[in-house]
Amino acid sequence: MNLQKGWNLKQSYTKLPDSFYTKTSPSEVEKPELVLYNEALAEKMGLNTEPDPAVFGGNAVPEGAEPIAQAYAGHQFGQFTMLGDGRAVLLGEQVTPEDERFDIQLKGSGRTPFSRGGDGRATLGPMLREYIISEAMHGLGIPTNRSLAVVTTGEYVQREDLLPGAVLTRVASSHLRIGTFQYAAGLQDHDQLKALADYAIKHHDPEILDSEQPYLSFFEKVIERQASLIAQWQLVGFIHGVMNTDNMTISGETIDYGPCAFMDTYNPKTVFSSIDRQGRYAYMNQPPIGAWNLARFAETLIPLFHENQEKAVEMAQEAHAKYEKYYHTYWLNGMRAKLGMVTEEAQDQPLIEDLLEIMEKNEADYTNTFRALTLGRPNETVLYGKPAFTNWYKQWQARLERQESSEADVHELMKKSNPSIIPRNHRVEEALEAAVEEGDFSVVKQLLSVLADPYAYSEEQEAYAELPEPSDQPYRTFCGT
Ligand code: AMP
Ligand code: MG
Repeated sequence: MNLQKGWNLKQSYTKLPDSFYTKTSPSEVEKPELVLYNEALAEKMGLNTEPDPAVFGGNAVPEGAEPIAQAYAGHQFGQFTMLGDGRAVLLGEQVTPEDERFDIQLKGSGRTPFSRGGDGRATLGPMLREYIISEAMHGLGIPTNRSLAVVTTGEYVQREDLLPGAVLTRVASSHLRIGTFQYAAGLQDHDQLKALADYAIKHHDPEILDSEQPYLSFFEKVIERQASLIAQWQLVGFIHGVMNTDNMTISGETIDYGPCAFMDTYNPKTVFSSIDRQGRYAYMNQPPIGAWNLARFAETLIPLFHENQEKAVEMAQEAHAKYEKYYHTYWLNGMRAKLGMVTEEAQDQPLIEDLLEIMEKNEADYTNTFRALTLGRPNETVLYGKPAFTNWYKQWQARLERQESSEADVHELMKKSNPSIIPRNHRVEEALEAAVEEGDFSVVKQLLSVLADPYAYSEEQEAYAELPEPSDQPYRTFCGT
């Protein structure tokens, strides 16, 4: 039985050299009010007590916490910058009843030494948005940081308009980023770089501590986790929007939900972020950007691979080359599952690509096309009746007949591989509007409840699978919120 109650915080990050963080307390807020609280996650954390808004607003620091802001750097849209937690503090790591450790971070908790020109604050709409999308990702089974609570602060924050302030509590297996290693490499101190790498390995990959080449193995682990993560994003049509190296984790969890959104109409060029004018982080660019980011990661680790630099570079390149293969395998097998394929045939990939091409040409909705195929209702797609689709459908059926798998098994596999719903942009906006404009959080809560199990195919989800009214304005998302 889970008898743990309340906070059980440790702080291991402060054992690193002090260049990696600054002790920073969250700033007080006027009137913290809890508007969202994740009961299920709280229980998993062993927090079996009444939630204290003062803690989630930053006014009270729980026992055992040792609040810090982490230092990091990163390539933002290709430009190298010194960053760090400018509006977040890490309270510590909650040790759960299962003896796992999770970072507890307050986002929007005030200025830190890394705030640069910023106010260290966050506003309600974007914090609710992060809560919704991160929890939707969790429901989809995709690695992500989680959201434990949102409090309103009773203060206004100056953006383009004055907006209500909020603090989000994030839970993550760590906040180590590629950018943390870039920061460490910038210190030009072998011991500090090694200290960070040893810390990361101990935290995420303890089984390789005693391997022959722990740093190279660690690099390969991160490569595989990132390849798997990005493949999963592609498979559900998730566009992160700001894949800067400071937003890419070592854990392979999705983090930093800013301008992200799910694609509706299938178009590989889709971009939602208002600042991504070149489409650097467009849907189709996510896999190659993953490789680019991992090359930046490799550069930081080279001094640890081998004392002979030439040899070290060779090792880095050889390992980095595996990314593409990992990614491709995860993606292809994921697509096979989406189409109910349990065996592997050489022609699977062209068959999958044919479907995607037909979808693109006909501006089909990504999620709902797979949903309709799952439900055996191809007539519900805009593709129905198009000769190219009719032909593809026949080939697909023939492909499924060649495997010895019952119709029921195929249906089950497709159901668990194709979400019935995603957090559709118009639904997210509707929920945020009710909360921010009317103080009505019931729409957000209802949305969270249907997104908790997107593979349920429940009746309640039907309405959430409906597409928005057509609009001439493309959906736009924003950073710096
Ligand atoms: P992001 O775009 O959220 O990944 O943030 C990039 C960097 O800007 C990080 O170092 C953030 O901590 C920092 N930052 C974003 N918003 C603010 C803010 N309002 N005040 C201070 N720093 C911020
Ligand atoms: Mg960030």
